[in-house]
Amino acid sequence: MSATIIRNGRIVDPANNRDESGDLLIVDGKIVDVSQLSTISSELDEIDGSNLVVCPGLIDIHVHLREPGFGHKETIASGARAAAAGGFSTIVCMPNTSPAADNPATIAWIKDRATETACVNVLPTGAISKNIAGEELASIGSLGRAGVVAITDDGHCVQNHELMRRAVEYARMVDLPVLDHCQDYNLVGNGVVHEGYWSTLLGLPGWPAAGEEAIVMRNILLAGLCDHHIHCQHISAAGSVRLIREARNRGVKISGEVCPHHIALTDEAIQNFDTNYKMNPPLRSKEDVNAILEGIADGTLSILCSDHAPHAGFEKEVEFDQAPFGIVGLETELGLFIDLLVHKHRKVDIKRLIGMYTVEPAKLLKLNAGTLSIGAPADVTLIDPDLEWTVRVDQFQSESRNSPFDQWKLKGRAVRTIVNGKTVWKL
Ligand SMILES: [Zn+2]
Repeated sequence: MSATIIRNGRIVDPANNRDESGDLLIVDGKIVDVSQLSTISSELDEIDGSNLVVCPGLIDIHVHLREPGFGHKETIASGARAAAAGGFSTIVCMPNTSPAADNPATIAWIKDRATETACVNVLPTGAISKNIAGEELASIGSLGRAGVVAITDDGHCVQNHELMRRAVEYARMVDLPVLDHCQDYNLVGNGVVHEGYWSTLLGLPGWPAAGEEAIVMRNILLAGLCDHHIHCQHISAAGSVRLIREARNRGVKISGEVCPHHIALTDEAIQNFDTNYKMNPPLRSKEDVNAILEGIADGTLSILCSDHAPHAGFEKEVEFDQAPFGIVGLETELGLFIDLLVHKHRKVDIKRLIGMYTVEPAKLLKLNAGTLSIGAPADVTLIDPDLEWTVRVDQFQSESRNSPFDQWKLKGRAVRTIVNGKTVWKL
């Protein structure tokens, strides 16, 4: 028997609408009622939770681990270490590996590799289309049986609406959530930055907000037509927030997620041509940032995530329009969101923020996670919401360093991550 007690913490468990000070008891990897303490016969590990938030282990539903195929950017092991250091006990990895995760054998490989090497829970997604090419459906039923938690072509977007309709219908039959990277290829063309003032001034090809909004609209129509949930990934544009809000008010099964860079930065940041500001979808205008903040405040956008996208230095150190899209995010996202959403803009309180990282993603993907209910797996994150710290990319656990937030001063950080009752990271 192994037993741990976290004493005098502020226990925040949005799944059970709980926010109170108290102790949390863990026995053999499960949450146990604290009244059972007197029955513990073995030695008890004690953790001081005073001045800390004790919450369900955080879940990031949008992470790119680069195995198989691109281990020089990130491995499942290093990505999991980065997740633990960011306060995450569960991460959901995207299928754009090499080979793509569009078949049961690759899913089995990822799951085995995660079991052998990862210090946090790694849950794979499967591709919507074969080789993420958007032309022929992957075998969605077999992917479901292989244990994927959702399907997505993230990094790419199925352009053929009829093919996407069939994907959503199959997904409904096998009860799999659909996640979508919203990008209309014809509208976006070779765009690399938000189409607006700065793209014009700098002479860089523009990626118009309408390129995202058109596919968000498509997904709203298909969610209604197929009566199945579609979750829109990394929402960046004001128009997308309006569309999702209106559709949700009508009861359409649609949702959206937010990455920290889309509220921490605007397209003004691209003027130095630093490729660490190049992401897909791109950084947008102040108006878009404000609309996303309002969408978070009123619940239109219900999930927070990183879109953790590691790339090696030599890959990013090229001309702006040649560089790959994306930044690492696992080790900075919680600090950025607490700093910006709770402290600076006061859009949500810490309890709602934790809900957007626990009960909301668990509900979307039907995970046995994201709660401190009695009997639940003892995945727990300890957060100091007032801790002031400085981001240092040279101290990242990730294999990659492509972050625009080096040297940023943030307030709020995870100080310990527990997975199945075991501490996997501690500040
Ligand atoms: Zn994407």
